[in-house]
Amino acid sequence: MKKIIYQTPDELKIRVDRNMKELLPVIRQLKKKKPPQLDEKVHALHEEAFDNFSCLDCANCCKTIGPRLIPADVERLARYLKLKVADFEAQYILSDEDGDLVFKSHPCPFLMPDNYCMVYEQRPRACREYPHTDRKRFYQILDLSLRNCETCPVVCAIMEELKENK
Ligand code: SF4
Ligand code: SF4
Repeated sequence: MKKIIYQTPDELKIRVDRNMKELLPVIRQLKKKKPPQLDEKVHALHEEAFDNFSCLDCANCCKTIGPRLIPADVERLARYLKLKVADFEAQYILSDEDGDLVFKSHPCPFLMPDNYCMVYEQRPRACREYPHTDRKRFYQILDLSLRNCETCPVVCAIMEELKENK
C-alpha cells in the first residue's frame, strides 16, 4: 500500500474525481461478485493504514461530517458532561431534515485544536465505527466507501489499492 499522506476534503475530491473512471467498474464488479476474500483483504489494508497513519494528523471526519447520534450516545455524553439530557440536547443537538440526531455545529464541538477528541472514551457509536473499513460484508458499503473517499485519506488509499490489485 502506498504511503498515506494527509489531504483536505477538497484535495481528496479532486483525487477521487481523477480516479473515478477506473474506480466505478471495479466497484461494480465487486458488488456483483462479492468475493469471499474481500473482507480479509480490506481488513488487512485497514490495519496497515492505521498502523502508519494517525487520525490525529487528519480529523477530516470530525471537522466536516460529524456522527449520527443514537439516544444511548446522547445519554452517555450528557452524563459524562454532567448535564441533564434536555440541557445537553438544547446545547449540542439538532434533528436534521431526515430526522437524524446530529451535532449542531461543524467542526464537532468536542474536537480540540490539536485534533484530540474531548469525549474520546464516551464518543458516539458512529465515531467508533467510522470509516467502516474493518466491518464485515464490506461489499455492502462500497458506494458509501466511495463517498467516504472524499473525506477520509485512509478510505481513499484502500479503495485505490482495491483498484490497483483487483
Ligand atoms: S465526538 Fe469526538 S470523535 Fe466524534 S466527531 Fe466529535 S471530536 Fe470526532
Ligand atoms: S477516520 Fe479517516 S477522516 Fe477520520 S480522522 Fe481518521 S483518517 Fe481522518
